[in-house]
Amino acid sequence: EKKKKKKKFKWETYKRMLKYSRKQWKLSLLGHIFLIAQSVSQVFIPSVSGRLLDATIKERDLDKLNQLAFQAILIFLANGISSFFRTFIFSLIGERVVIDLRNDCFSKFIHNEISFHDKQHSGELISRLGNDISTAKAAASGNISTTIRNVIICVGNVIMLFLISRSLFIVIAIMIPIFIITSSVYGRYLKKLTKKYQDYTAKVSSHAQECFSNIKTVKAFSNEDKEILRYNDVMKQCYEVGYNKSVSSGLYNGINSLVSDFATLAVLWYGGYLVLQENDLTSGQLASVILYTGSLASATSSISSSLSKIVTATGASDRLFKLMDKKPKIKCQGGLTYFNFRGEISFQNVGFSYKHTDHVKVLSDFNLDIKPGERVALVGQSGSGKSTVIRLIERFYDVTQGQITIDGYNIKEIDLTFLHSYIGYVSQEPLLFSGTIEENITYGMKKPYSKELLDQVCKLANSYNFIHDKTHFPLGYKTLVGEAGAKLSGGQKQRIAISRALILQPRILIFDEATSALDAESEFQVQQAIDELMQKQKDMTIILIAHRLSTIMNCEKIVVLNKGKVAEIGNHKELIERNGIYKQLVDRQLQGLTNQ
Ligand code: ADP
Repeated sequence: EKKKKKKKFKWETYKRMLKYSRKQWKLSLLGHIFLIAQSVSQVFIPSVSGRLLDATIKERDLDKLNQLAFQAILIFLANGISSFFRTFIFSLIGERVVIDLRNDCFSKFIHNEISFHDKQHSGELISRLGNDISTAKAAASGNISTTIRNVIICVGNVIMLFLISRSLFIVIAIMIPIFIITSSVYGRYLKKLTKKYQDYTAKVSSHAQECFSNIKTVKAFSNEDKEILRYNDVMKQCYEVGYNKSVSSGLYNGINSLVSDFATLAVLWYGGYLVLQENDLTSGQLASVILYTGSLASATSSISSSLSKIVTATGASDRLFKLMDKKPKIKCQGGLTYFNFRGEISFQNVGFSYKHTDHVKVLSDFNLDIKPGERVALVGQSGSGKSTVIRLIERFYDVTQGQITIDGYNIKEIDLTFLHSYIGYVSQEPLLFSGTIEENITYGMKKPYSKELLDQVCKLANSYNFIHDKTHFPLGYKTLVGEAGAKLSGGQKQRIAISRALILQPRILIFDEATSALDAESEFQVQQAIDELMQKQKDMTIILIAHRLSTIMNCEKIVVLNKGKVAEIGNHKELIERNGIYKQLVDRQLQGLTNQ
């Protein structure tokens, strides 16, 4: 039953893939006209060649020979020209299908929610976008045209053979099933192998990607050789499948050549007998029959190879569509887009667990109210759920229990783009995109901005001075930051990230351990920017996960988290008096400072 379901599903996948080429129906129609023209002209080539031979050997007629040569020229021209257009048009359709498919796929992946990206390795997504789409193209383009062309050629050849000699036709008819059987067995085996091969290739590239993106860690531990060994291990598995694939291709080609050689011999021998003994056949006709047999053999094997390519391509499309069909529960658009956003946040009995680790409750019975303009520090041990709280305010994930409201509206009812336009977010790792400093700062801007605003936010974020330091950044805002901001220091990147958050003029500004990945000097500069912001931006809600006592002390509300619950809440003075977890944390930090 399972198998049946699987087969049916593949057919659906194939139809879905065809939809992409159906968009190009005008071009496809033109391509099919050339395809028919080419296939038909090809069917006539053996016949005219045989007649040319007869005019020479049997009839010894020069006029007829010239006439037939002229006919042959016309047929060859038709064949050549239509072959060019057919190939060009179908390959163009293929390229267009790839563009559409890649765009669709990329947009589906990027729109999907964070939990999808938590589960799906970025290397795998990249491999689906690259390899799988290139393979999937075959299901929607060239291979169908090749199959149709070969079917026409096969039918044409069979008719011609039947017309030339019925008895020879019977001999050939016995050979055809042998071709079909060898091809279909191979097709099925190849399909399995190719799927396996693609999975291993994805693993290989995903491993390489992980390595290169973590290159500093690899280097720091001098683990190059270990990584090479791991890479080789994955490659070995890939090679084993590749080896089997090579053996089966070799076998297929060997058997095919044997079958076709014996078929030719059978036709030559029996055809020769008919010419010599029965006078049933002319030598020109025998030549035509041999040419038709060769053409029939190559067309039949070509049909099966393009069919198996289509099967492989359907396999790749299937994997692709499965990923594309993973519907995000959290959609980028939809919901409330207009209300006076003040930024009042309320967590009401919130429970949360990350999807794929369902049994672990990260937050439970979590209650917290944040008023507009409040400065809130989230503190607590590592793993207590601080970043999760922030991710929930950003609605990277949906709560599993209770609700979060913003200005009284359930966060699930608010349009995500609208919500994000009011939230500035500075993450732990300052991540930039390749491009200029200005492009990075204005990354989230959906509307035109003035130079004054740019200057203003850079001054606020303490980034203005270094951007305008002509010795290091002669092009100022137009300086290229390199891939992922590689040309900037951690502190500079983080201050650009703060400018990027500020330029949106958000109502809520979030710092998720913004200084924890920085060295002492960079930390000081970024800290200065945050402290200044806290003083100057009085109407902005600022939520931060911070470790520095001075920053935490400046907050009106300190929320102490413990195992996913609010353990203590209050200002610095109140919490110290309470003599609980917060007091312990502060004591520990002060102890650390005196030890230094
Ligand atoms: P904190 O910021 O206080 O260090 P987090 O909110 O990052 O804590 O994490 C709380 C718990 O959730 C931890 O046990 C952590 O392992 C888990 N966790 C964090 N992120 C994920 C994730 N993407 N998938 C699964 N579990 C996660």
